[in-house]
Amino acid sequence: MSQKVVISVKDLKKNYGSFEAVKGISFEVFQGEIFGLLGPNGAGKSTTLEIIETLRKKTGGEVWVDGLNIDRQPEKIKQIIGVQLQSSGFYPGLNLMELIRLFSGLYNQPVDAAELLRMVNLEDKAHSKFKALSGGQKQRFSIATTLINKPRIIFLDEPTTGLDPQARRNLWDLIKDIRAQGTTVIITTHYMDEAEILCDRVAIIDEGRIIALQTPDKLIDDLVAAGFEKPKEVKQANLEDVFIHLTGRTLRAE
Ligand code: ADP
Repeated sequence: MSQKVVISVKDLKKNYGSFEAVKGISFEVFQGEIFGLLGPNGAGKSTTLEIIETLRKKTGGEVWVDGLNIDRQPEKIKQIIGVQLQSSGFYPGLNLMELIRLFSGLYNQPVDAAELLRMVNLEDKAHSKFKALSGGQKQRFSIATTLINKPRIIFLDEPTTGLDPQARRNLWDLIKDIRAQGTTVIITTHYMDEAEILCDRVAIIDEGRIIALQTPDKLIDDLVAAGFEKPKEVKQANLEDVFIHLTGRTLRAE
């Protein structure tokens, strides 16, 4: 089965002064994929994402987003992608419904605010202010804002960092729902369990280079085939399983 390429990055380079933050990386993302960018802090993930999002200038290489060239058609690219807004843009005086209507006006894109809040399970919070939300609710709202312009591709930068185990699982379900509606998702995360569960393929970036690009399954199988063994016997459960077993999957702070 041939898959449609929605993002194509070729020999992308980014220098900050004389420092080479991204050293010529190439990869493709397929339509409908959840694609993970993994790597240690400083590897060049955010730089790469922000270049694709048209928010940062590249030093070299080529990028296409849904067939649009990043140098020639950046405005068209902005129209078909969804990027998480900084929470500083969430005017404190407005409630969630009003914020969505505001952004919808800014994007010149009519949106059913109640329906969007329902999709991210925040219909009960329609009249609350952003600052009154729990960490998980804030992330769900932030993800909702990426969907306002009905994008073909959304970018999520560490969406579950700092969330409790229930809220993380809840967000995984939301991300899967968004993908099920046909949206391609590019995500960065430092949680490898999350990448393993969510991502169809992951690129591992280190010091500005892609050092692996595969399905999580294949990467694990290759490591095992190369003779890797865990230093101790693996138990049938881990502490996170205990936590979820004891406290359930129901969201708190609702
Ligand atoms: P990651 O998202 O993987 O943590 P970044 O893309 O944020 O990595 O950063 C890659 C490297 O580029 C880091 O060494 C970082 O310090 C450097 N860097 C990022 N942004 C700038 C900037 N605006 N000016 C100078 N150096 C930067």
